[in-house]
Amino acid sequence: MEKSEELSRIRQQIIEGGLRLVKERLVARTWGNISIRVDETHMLITPSGRSYEDLTPEDIVLVNYHTSKHEGPIKPSSEKELHCEIYRTRKKIHAVIHTHQMNASTVAAAHREVPPILDDMAQIIGPSVRVAEYALPSTKKITKKTVSALKGRNAALMANHGAVCVGRDLEEAFVVCQVLEKACKAFIEAEFLGGAKSINKFEAHLMHQIYIRKYSGEAHKNK
Ligand SMILES: [Zn+2]
Repeated sequence: MEKSEELSRIRQQIIEGGLRLVKERLVARTWGNISIRVDETHMLITPSGRSYEDLTPEDIVLVNYHTSKHEGPIKPSSEKELHCEIYRTRKKIHAVIHTHQMNASTVAAAHREVPPILDDMAQIIGPSVRVAEYALPSTKKITKKTVSALKGRNAALMANHGAVCVGRDLEEAFVVCQVLEKACKAFIEAEFLGGAKSINKFEAHLMHQIYIRKYSGEAHKNK
C-alpha cells in the first residue's frame, strides 16, 4: 500500500474510533484521545479540544514520537507526550486510547489498584491494574508515572483523572477499554459484597502471557 493511502486509512480509523469512544460512553464531548502508530517514527493522533463528531481526516495530526514535534497547523491532543512515550518504550503497542470512563474513573478517584479478579481481565490487561499517582494533566510527571504504572499491562488508571488503554491494534485497545470498565465495575461491587477475592497473581500473569502469545503476529492480524 502507498504511504499516503496508508495514512488516509489510519486517519479514517481514528475518526471512527473517536465516534466509538463517545458512543460507548468512554468519554464525553472533547475529552480523551486516540492515537495509532504509523511507522518507526510517526503516530497519528486526535487534535486538541475538538468534538469527535466534527472531525475530518485532515484534522488528525501527524506527530514524530521521538521528538514530539507535529506537522501542520492543527495542534495535537494535549496528552500527546503520554502517547509518544508509550510508542517509544512499548515496541509492540500500535494503538493508545485515553478515556474518562466511569467505573475506571471511580476506582482512580479512590486510588485503588485493581487485583486480578476476573479471568478476562487477567488475560487481556495483565495481572493487575495499577494507579499512576496524581499529577497535573499534560505534564512530564503524569507521563512518567502513567508509563511506569502501565509496565507489563495493557491498561493503567490515572489517579483522579481516568485511564489509558493500549493494544497491538485499535480493536484490541477498545477491547481493553471494555474489559477494564467491566473489571472496575466488578471490583467496586465485589468490595460492597464483602471484598473482592483475587486470582493467584502468578496464574494471572501466566494467563496474560498465554493470551499475548496466542494472539500475536499473523494469528492476531487474522483474528
Ligand atoms: Zn484526560
